Amino acid sequence: MHNTVAFTRHSANIFFHILTRCNLRCRHCYINPDQHGRETLDLDTIDRWLTLFARRHPAANLIFLGGEPTLHPDLASAVKRSRQLGYASVTIDTNGYLFHDILDKVTPAEVDFFSFSLDGPDPSINDPLRGEGSFEQCTRGIAAARQRGFAVSLIYTVSRANIDHLHRMPALLADLGVERFFIQVIGIRGRWSDDAQQQAELAQVDRETWLDVIPRVAETAAGEGITVTYPKVFLDPGEPFECAGLVADNYFIFPNGRVYRCPLCEDYALHSLEIKDGQLKDTAKVNEADLFPLLIPEGCVMNRIVQPRNLPPCDNGEPSYKIACCLLKEELTP
Ligand code: SF4
Ligand code: SF4
Repeated sequence: MHNTVAFTRHSANIFFHILTRCNLRCRHCYINPDQHGRETLDLDTIDRWLTLFARRHPAANLIFLGGEPTLHPDLASAVKRSRQLGYASVTIDTNGYLFHDILDKVTPAEVDFFSFSLDGPDPSINDPLRGEGSFEQCTRGIAAARQRGFAVSLIYTVSRANIDHLHRMPALLADLGVERFFIQVIGIRGRWSDDAQQQAELAQVDRETWLDVIPRVAETAAGEGITVTYPKVFLDPGEPFECAGLVADNYFIFPNGRVYRCPLCEDYALHSLEIKDGQLKDTAKVNEADLFPLLIPEGCVMNRIVQPRNLPPCDNGEPSYKIACCLLKEELTP
């Protein structure tokens, strides 16, 4: 079954970066400590911030992120606390190194998904992007999680460097017992985004290539019994455009207290909320919330500002397609 997943209007999603430190240096890493801080939140602070959002949005979905969140020695305690607070689901995003024996400290009843990241179907494609040995370590981590009964999902970030190898992923995922496959589009964000050579090598693929490859691979993966989610990215001129910042409850929390509603804004001090003195407060203008209502022919206004290379060609001033909100997804269920 194939659905366009409008933003989750009836549930909130809390993306909680509990630290920005990581053992890897992926080439396309979106973490930017100059903007997101270098702190590792202590357990008391994590507890207070979890409580803050649980009060605001009872039964939200919670995703623990980093950096690498399993580097945090108190991640298991944070998971247990989030369950007590009534979060509807708990996911741990990991690069697969699974520090601090995290698999032995939480249970499948506490963690809905371990979400692993892999950017190639073998080490020759993945490791130049994510680091020497990372393919081996990640697939070993997936096997260990499956063996202990955890549900496992996998994120593949598509760029020019690895799209030609995406079609080999469904068979690998089926072998590994992965239940959900998230295909991501690379964003021009993070420390590397000022580097022209990196940008050229890791650029987003064009619309024709995206539409030719991604839906086909998604169908193959769904045929293997895997639920697949991928961003829509491109809208035809007649398709409605909507900004998730106006209609959905997504919060991207960083250890320096910044809280964004839009991931494309994360390289700038455009956060519309911040945690200060234990409270969630609105920030001063101008911030991302002032940008969300701006309607432009090209679709997403932040895309126009931060990654204009993927903008559509114009014919008589009319763009031939629009850029969708980065949070608008297509979903295929087996
Ligand atoms: S694993 Fe994640 S946080 Fe770490 S370097 Fe890679 S993309 Fe960045
Ligand atoms: S990606 Fe664009 S459309 Fe989506 S929330 Fe951000 S500004 Fe709005």
